[in-house]
Amino acid sequence: MKAVRIHEFGGPEVLRYEDVPDPKPRNDQVLVRVRACALNHLDIWVRKGLPGVSLPHTLGSDIAGEIVEVGEYVSGFKPGQRVLLAPMHFCNHCAKCVAGLQNQCPEFTVLGNRVDGGNCELIAVPTVNVIPIPDSLDFNQAASVPLVFLTAWHMLVGRAGIRPGQTVLVLGASSGVGIAAIQIAKLFHARVITTAGDEKKLEKARALGADHGINHYKQKISEEVKKITNKEGVDIVIEHVGAATWEESIKSLKPAGTLVTCGATTGPNVGLELRFVYSRQLSILGSYMGTIIRSADTRLCRTSETGGGSHISFERHSRRARAHGKKPDVRQNRAEPVGML
Ligand SMILES: [Zn+2]
Repeated sequence: MKAVRIHEFGGPEVLRYEDVPDPKPRNDQVLVRVRACALNHLDIWVRKGLPGVSLPHTLGSDIAGEIVEVGEYVSGFKPGQRVLLAPMHFCNHCAKCVAGLQNQCPEFTVLGNRVDGGNCELIAVPTVNVIPIPDSLDFNQAASVPLVFLTAWHMLVGRAGIRPGQTVLVLGASSGVGIAAIQIAKLFHARVITTAGDEKKLEKARALGADHGINHYKQKISEEVKKITNKEGVDIVIEHVGAATWEESIKSLKPAGTLVTCGATTGPNVGLELRFVYSRQLSILGSYMGTIIRSADTRLCRTSETGGGSHISFERHSRRARAHGKKPDVRQNRAEPVGML
């Protein structure tokens, strides 16, 4: 097959389009023909050089495609099925994996980081990574989902425990995590304040459901947040920018508010006024990627299109079922695909 690989770290000039052997799926794996692979900022970090990456290496975390072959032990999937791949690699048998905490597995990494990714024609993956996609999503749209929606979902739902009626500050409305976090927060009926560097980006954020936009070049984030929330502050801050926004993010929290961070694009070293943290009882949480759970808890359930962009939402199936007084059907769920949290 053809693949784009790197044999050394560096700029785009190190990407090499070349022939490599076809992957041979194990008995418990499926072989997927890659139809779309999104570009994530992680691809650039890895291409420039990260520890633990062995060369030659294939980049690409966000993969959508169709199944071409299933291993002997695989059930529930068949050739021709359109799928996206949960963008992670883990052992699937350690205590953490068995407990559904795959992102705490000692072997955990992101597809395209310390294991080969999807910048190639074929990829073999365990079935636990495979998630069928609805006909309403084309491959390009599906490939835009995995890493950022997994990350944003785990931040809001897994870590911050978002609840309806809360107010969420999402930094970087036009970033991948920002786009996903706005939609997930709205799915939970939260009020969303977001930031961006120009009006066009803020307009797009409003089209995704954001209630308020702050231009972070023209306005001070924490001051605008105070105005919007009647001096109260927000319940949750979705932070991934790092040094450039950290202080404003902390100042925007209400007492007992929660800041969740998943990245440090502008730098990892920040200041922290401890008296402010304990006297206001703030929670500062780290979040890395996410976990895989069975569809008894989560399922890929709804897609819609707005203004040329795509929306995709993961919904707590069991919560919805409980709200309607139904018990989740375990037999049915066992045969269904996985979701991501
Ligand atoms: Zn494990």
